[in-house]
Amino acid sequence: MPLFRGLRFLTTVNDLRMLPLEGVEVAFAGRSNAGKSSAINTLANHTRLAFVSKTPGRTQHINYFDFGNDRRLVDLPGYGYAEVPEAVRRHWQTMLGRYLAERPNLIGLVLIMDSRRPLLELDRRMLDWFLPTGKPVHIMLTKSDKLSNQEKQTVLRKVQKEFVDNEKVTVQLFSSLKKQGAEETETVVGQWFEA
Ligand code: GDP
Repeated sequence: MPLFRGLRFLTTVNDLRMLPLEGVEVAFAGRSNAGKSSAINTLANHTRLAFVSKTPGRTQHINYFDFGNDRRLVDLPGYGYAEVPEAVRRHWQTMLGRYLAERPNLIGLVLIMDSRRPLLELDRRMLDWFLPTGKPVHIMLTKSDKLSNQEKQTVLRKVQKEFVDNEKVTVQLFSSLKKQGAEETETVVGQWFEA
């Protein structure tokens, strides 16, 4: 069975320090509203496994999913939502930075970005925290259905070019609306778990 089809909700935690000690995990991160929940639902072929946010950035809950065999998906809260108070935002970013840089169970990061606005400042900050670990990053450029074919190729090449010297970074286009790109994500994340 494809990896993501077996995805099941496990639990919600409020603190990254409360994540279990056992198992291996991939994290999904992205700016609030980038399309992360939709992407997880599309990959899992499920309409509401991850809740599509009605109030972006409201919750700092970490949803924890299970692929089976002690393989997990950590759905990190969306970042960059302007209405979150500065102090809360800063606290959260410290936690997130520490998680990305230091979590031993974490084997790879899936970074979700709106294909119309890739690599914004906070996206780069996630990469600055995570890339030094030497673990792989897979960038999903979502909502690709909103771009023309030419725009899709342009943004894909532009992002790929930024990481041309880093073989740990892979990039793909994705559309939850058109259900395009799921196989590619499945292959990349599947390889991380097999490595
Ligand atoms: P999250 O905050 O990153 O979890 O983003 P959501 O998955 O909640 O999506 C934010 C908004 O973008 C919602 O209105 C979705 O319907 C929309 N959206 C998500 N993915 C796509 C996509 O692939 N194509 C289009 N056109 N809209 C999308």
